[in-house]
Amino acid sequence: MSCYMSTKEIAAYGPYKLENDGLTPKQRARKRMEAQGLMTKGQHLGHRWAIGCVSLEITQRCNLDCTLCYLSESAEAVKDIPIDEVFRRIDEIRAMYGPNTDIQISGGDPTLRQRDELMAIVRKVRDSGMRPSLFTNGIKASRDMLEELVENGLVDVAFHVDLTQERKGYTTEVELNEVRQEYIERARGLPLSIFFNTTVYDGNFHEIPKIVDFMVKNSDIVRLASFQLQADTGRGVLTERDFMISQTTVADQIRKGAGCNINFDSMDIGHSKCNKYAMTLVADNKVHDVFYNTEYVQDVLATMGSDIVFDRQNKRQVVEQMANWVIKNPKLLPKSLGWLKDKTKDMAMDIFRAKGKVNKLSFFIHNFMDACHLEKDRIDSCVFMVATAEGPISMCLNNAKRDDFLLKPIAMPQAEGVIKFWNPITGKLQDNKPERLVVEHTRKTARGRTKEKMDAERLAAKANFGRTESDVLQDDVSVNEIAMNEAVAKQTVES
Ligand code: SF4
Repeated sequence: MSCYMSTKEIAAYGPYKLENDGLTPKQRARKRMEAQGLMTKGQHLGHRWAIGCVSLEITQRCNLDCTLCYLSESAEAVKDIPIDEVFRRIDEIRAMYGPNTDIQISGGDPTLRQRDELMAIVRKVRDSGMRPSLFTNGIKASRDMLEELVENGLVDVAFHVDLTQERKGYTTEVELNEVRQEYIERARGLPLSIFFNTTVYDGNFHEIPKIVDFMVKNSDIVRLASFQLQADTGRGVLTERDFMISQTTVADQIRKGAGCNINFDSMDIGHSKCNKYAMTLVADNKVHDVFYNTEYVQDVLATMGSDIVFDRQNKRQVVEQMANWVIKNPKLLPKSLGWLKDKTKDMAMDIFRAKGKVNKLSFFIHNFMDACHLEKDRIDSCVFMVATAEGPISMCLNNAKRDDFLLKPIAMPQAEGVIKFWNPITGKLQDNKPERLVVEHTRKTARGRTKEKMDAERLAAKANFGRTESDVLQDDVSVNEIAMNEAVAKQTVES
């Protein structure tokens, strides 16, 4: 019997609204987890956080065309939402989830947004008492841009690099380490936490251990290696994932690369079928599991609550915060000392060889759902929201009906109580609410599955003129490249 949501249920499930229920954001999260029977001892939501993170998509445009892109096929045809609407969404996120919420400033690629606006958005998130992270493919994230972002309050940068992006000249993940290394060097020395995102599909599953090995060797800079499992959603041309790709097999591949056992089951972040998280310490390039003792980890989590907010930009402060917390919680002192003894014994030689240098490296596995295989209990307990004009909504649910939000005109209050409507296709304000918008694709706006279909139609049409398939494809590549380069060049001039 299928437990997937029907098309009707997906259409009816709307974004969350700010409730006047007298509860704090964390209490509301707790209520949500309890309703799903997920308020376990190891549950983060409701204990430490009100939400995992919220994605703030500040543009839908991208300078790549990933084979597993989650964006809508209409994405390139819509304009960047007005900055006032971005600011309104930031205020709404703050009101719904409280301070210290992690905001993923993403897109499309957020670096394609007009530069002064990107800076203003980062500043606004930080000034609102939340933590801005930049989620980018890194192509336009120059050193100069990263420095300016830091000045405006950026906390983390997450670089997405993998084979699904089809970067020219790279055929393996190991070769792509050259790109990852370049990004690391761009960010080196800046007070930023560096993350790397990898989409896992059958073309790179076997290389996960080598990706992990790279992260370990760069753990002086890299704080988090996140692996997203292939999902059949969005405009990407690849569809269902191979049966060999699961949370379990990816966790095994990570352990293989790390060369040690790593416990991914000590804590829950929302639904266990969605998220797996583990933390390790690295000394002399040797990896050591932090969460090996599930009982202790859960005791710490239950006692710590959200009292401590770690400053990810300041390693020394995190160690001091933890040490102070241990001292202030004498009930857990015997277990804390036991953990310290185990780790010291385990790591002594590596710490000695590393001259006392120990780095923290975390691993995350995110198991997105296919658009037509949404499980309601997971949507109900989702920890990863995306901000829409109507409120935050689960990322998986949003991915299943992106155009419902993208192509809807946005009401923009003007002076003296007047409301105008921003049209996402023209990017202009108009007096009356336009009807539901429809995108007419050109070669410039077509990406992913639409582009593939257009290519196939073009090939079929041209086949009658006696040209070879490679002649026709060559034309297509040139046209696409010109269109992409024009878009990037235009944006560079604008910013
Ligand atoms: S976005 Fe999807 S996979 Fe991620 S937590 Fe939400 S429901 Fe689960």
